Amino acid sequence: MNENKKHNFGAGPCILPESVLCQAANAVIDWNDMGLSILEVSHRSPEFESVVLKTQLLVRELLHIPDSYAVLFLQGGASTQFSMIPMNFLKGKSVAAYLDTGYFAQKAIQEAKHFGTPVIVGSSRDKQYNYIPDYYDVPSEAAYLHITSNNTIEGTEQFEFPTQGIPMICDMSSDIFSRMVDVRKFDLIYAGAQKNMGPAGMTMVIIKNELIDTITHEIPAMSDYRVLEANNSLYNTPPVFAIYTAMLNLIWLKDQGGILGIEQKNIKKAMLLYKEIDENPLFYGLAQPAHRSRMNVTFKMYDESLEKVFLTFATERNIVGIQGYRTVGGFRASLYNALPIESVQVLVTVMRDFAAELGL
Ligand code: PLP
Repeated sequence: MNENKKHNFGAGPCILPESVLCQAANAVIDWNDMGLSILEVSHRSPEFESVVLKTQLLVRELLHIPDSYAVLFLQGGASTQFSMIPMNFLKGKSVAAYLDTGYFAQKAIQEAKHFGTPVIVGSSRDKQYNYIPDYYDVPSEAAYLHITSNNTIEGTEQFEFPTQGIPMICDMSSDIFSRMVDVRKFDLIYAGAQKNMGPAGMTMVIIKNELIDTITHEIPAMSDYRVLEANNSLYNTPPVFAIYTAMLNLIWLKDQGGILGIEQKNIKKAMLLYKEIDENPLFYGLAQPAHRSRMNVTFKMYDESLEKVFLTFATERNIVGIQGYRTVGGFRASLYNALPIESVQVLVTVMRDFAAELGL
């Protein structure tokens, strides 16, 4: 146990289980008694190929992914997917539908403009992105509909996924593995790993083989889903350490009762914090209650001049990572899988103690 460990509410890279960090650290020194570090082995070695395979199998098992989907481990972050998706699927079709739910959805929309015309089929911009808009008028000629299941910065999360008769693509960077989703509703899911999957440096793509088969035009190899799938994520040197540590983290997740087990814990953590936000006279939540994210809880103080003082108060009590994103302000507490409920209890106590010091 690291006695010096902080209560880490950071949005990503973020907290990982201590047991995973210890195993990863040991593997950096000597992996499997091979006399080699995990950082020193060839990505073409049978040992590392079995790590890729095992990680893929864990992803499939945890998310109940049918064989008709490929699981890829790529580089470039979720941000690279913002452009790879329209690069692969917009050729021949000029329109793609996008749901505008915040900062990262906007970034995806901007990238699509390099390849065609993104049509915004719903937006919550009118209310500082504090809710998930409905989307009914999706053009049938659109190549796909792109949504963001959890808006990391604004603190909203989408819980229902109405399908639209066109390929559904979802950025699940900040809630993948935090709750059960029906993968079959989607044609492509992507996620940067650095929240609930593992360390930064790897991006996971779950893609329906049928969708890959629709690509017929020339694309640079590193951006071509056909090439990446045909080479089983080993077209070039993959992020070896990130994949290895993700594997350890997914084994940890399985030991927590899998996704259903962790989902129950995540619901409890989120309820605990939102209850305090609603009851404490100093704070209010930013997201509309029906769309509140279980992963990223955004809140502010009625008296903004107290926010810096509260931040210092919390920091002195070993709480880190709660400062809100610069465009939103206030606070954001990220409650990813590895964050223990005890850390949320500490934050709640700190919020209460702060109110008590002000005589409230
Ligand atoms: N999409 C979402 C929902 C995110 O939260 C993030 C990063 O936090 C990104 C995309 C961008 O990810 P990356 O930094 O891996 O490019």
